[in-house]
Amino acid sequence: MRTSGADWILKEHPDSAATRLRIAREDRLMNLHAVDRLVRFPRHAPTLDGELFAEEGGKLYRLLSFLEGRFLAQVAHSPEMMESLGALLGRMAVRALSMGVVEAPVAPSDWDLQHLGLLRRYLQEEADPHLRSLIAYFIDQFEAQVWPVRSELRYCMIHNDANDWNILVRDNVISGLFDFGDHCYSWMVNDLAVGLTYMLLDKDNLLETVRQVVSAFSRELPLKAAECDALYWLVAGRLCMSLLNSAHAMKQQPDNTYIPISRQPAERLLHSWLQINPVRAKAVIRQAAGLQPEYPPDTATFEQRRRRVLSPALSLSYTTPIAMQRAAFQYMYDTSGETYLDAYNNIMLVGHCHPHVVSRSTSVMRRLNTNTRYHYDELLAYTERLLEHFPPALSRVFLVNSGSAATDLAIRLARHYTGRRKVLALEHGYHGNTETAISISHYKHRPETAYPDTLLCPMPKAFGTDNSVSDYASAGLRTIGEHEGQIAAFIAEPIMGCGGQVPLADGFLQALYPELRKAGALCISDEVQVGFGRLGAYFWGFEMYGVVPDMVVLGKPMGNGHPIGAVVCTAAIADEFASGPEFFSSFGGNPVSCATGLAVLEVLQQESLGEHAKVTGEYLAEGFKRLGSEFPVLADVRGSGLFLGVEVQLPDGRPGTRLANGIKNGLRERHILIGTDGPADNVLKIKPPLPFNRSNSDRLLEEMSRWLRRNAALKEYS
Ligand code: PMP
Repeated sequence: MRTSGADWILKEHPDSAATRLRIAREDRLMNLHAVDRLVRFPRHAPTLDGELFAEEGGKLYRLLSFLEGRFLAQVAHSPEMMESLGALLGRMAVRALSMGVVEAPVAPSDWDLQHLGLLRRYLQEEADPHLRSLIAYFIDQFEAQVWPVRSELRYCMIHNDANDWNILVRDNVISGLFDFGDHCYSWMVNDLAVGLTYMLLDKDNLLETVRQVVSAFSRELPLKAAECDALYWLVAGRLCMSLLNSAHAMKQQPDNTYIPISRQPAERLLHSWLQINPVRAKAVIRQAAGLQPEYPPDTATFEQRRRRVLSPALSLSYTTPIAMQRAAFQYMYDTSGETYLDAYNNIMLVGHCHPHVVSRSTSVMRRLNTNTRYHYDELLAYTERLLEHFPPALSRVFLVNSGSAATDLAIRLARHYTGRRKVLALEHGYHGNTETAISISHYKHRPETAYPDTLLCPMPKAFGTDNSVSDYASAGLRTIGEHEGQIAAFIAEPIMGCGGQVPLADGFLQALYPELRKAGALCISDEVQVGFGRLGAYFWGFEMYGVVPDMVVLGKPMGNGHPIGAVVCTAAIADEFASGPEFFSSFGGNPVSCATGLAVLEVLQQESLGEHAKVTGEYLAEGFKRLGSEFPVLADVRGSGLFLGVEVQLPDGRPGTRLANGIKNGLRERHILIGTDGPADNVLKIKPPLPFNRSNSDRLLEEMSRWLRRNAALKEYS
């Protein structure tokens, strides 16, 4: 609207007492900031009666001065602009703090960051289940990291919406700020968090932007340590807030095509933000604010303490071990501020610290923890749900606390059922750390000790051998024949992890299982490493071979890091065991563990992680094969889904042990975690948390290719 002397904005509002109060507060705030020497704010033009608004027909009308300038959203963001934004927010905070306590609206606003937790009610309206989990993760962290220290955060009236369409620029600096409609009485640092969040959208060097904005802010108003430390979580919180409020809006206005588009930059930034170690972010923010950064204890400190209290039998990964501080989904954060892409830790199946798993287990831990001598729902809800994943013949569950305990129990069950002692296992297999489990784990038979009840057959590996599957099968059948009436059970991993990610030659189990049964022995599948959907096309490894075992041993990913293991077996085996002494495990099947296990199954389904493992695994395996055609030292790529192995072999056919370890440690230096294993320790093991995605795969492949280009030909690796 144009008058002779000036341009105006006419605003119309439905009349209500709350709106009148809000307009009055806006007026106070705009007047407060009008003294700013560098930046202009809108002002009310009073009515002829000297009022802030005119009323007519249930509506309120007001005139606001029009500000000239270009929107910050329409120009390239220079460092000067970032600094001038930081400085503006700082000057506004100084003035707002001087206002003292202001009466707050009664109902908390959906845009007030201090009330972020209340937005959980919109989580189910977020259609993308991965994004929903990411948002839930950051809300959890907000509640754990920021909420408890809120008494240290200063309050004042904040603008609360310094986004780049509310900010004007002229001559490379901020010249105007308008739209006080979202103002609230909240934590002072939230204004900085909101302005900063919008500055970070679609930027590459996020922490540099943080540094520029925060240092300019703190030159106007020094930040307190608690405010600095909250900022990383508040930026994430603001993104979650935008995404949840827009998910809610999309439900209300399904035809509005603008909302989904505006979400994309926020979603991208939230993913990038997850890749910044909060330790690093805090340090950058504190430094920018002129405060001393704080780092948690480093590797050297841990090494000394560890040596004093632990046995050197406990080994550490990598030539330079890592001191871990936190982790989220497929990322791990060390104490020095680095972020690692985790391509190795299969236990964290659905992602490190997955919010659904954390919330289920902690809520039951707060309510009840007991043992299987009582009735409680969690035990049955979990076992019923678990059994839905098995063929009908496998219908009974024993819950324990580790893969080792499960192996141990499975062997005990087999011995009790058959009245025999001997166990047939595979060379280079691993089944756990109890005395019985070790006795059948050739991988750990060092020095070679006699285990009279253990029979071994060669690892049926297809790569790098002249043996055919029938050679392996005949060797197995021969052993079965030679020990007629003595074998209680045969145990094998469907893909041998410690053996070097070796799928059993196809046809091997199909040949052995019927003969074992004829001989009166039980067949056990050790699914500790591969189970629960990691293989992509198969929920369990035995499905790869079209066989059904009599018993299955479970562990590792079952509780996403919480210690649970299980034996799943036939009713006949379980019933027979009841004729022996009572079986009891103090912790096996406790409510917290069961709730945790159930949450893992729920996430697998909700986020279709099996399908994701299949697609991502195929993509990654293809990438390794492509890399293998460039670097023939990557001699074999094998596995299924996100359980892959890459065998490293030197040009003369010798195992590339040093080279494999070089790759592993080289990637660690580039902040990517993989492992090595196999009898010659020359197989790269890739078995990441399942949220591991296509762009993570690209990064892994790229870094591996870069390392190989520089180092593969070096003498030290031959
Ligand atoms: N079986 C297999 C195949 C394993 O890989 C492991 C652990 N590496 C176990 C059993 C033993 O599990 P835990 O370490 O939980 O006792």
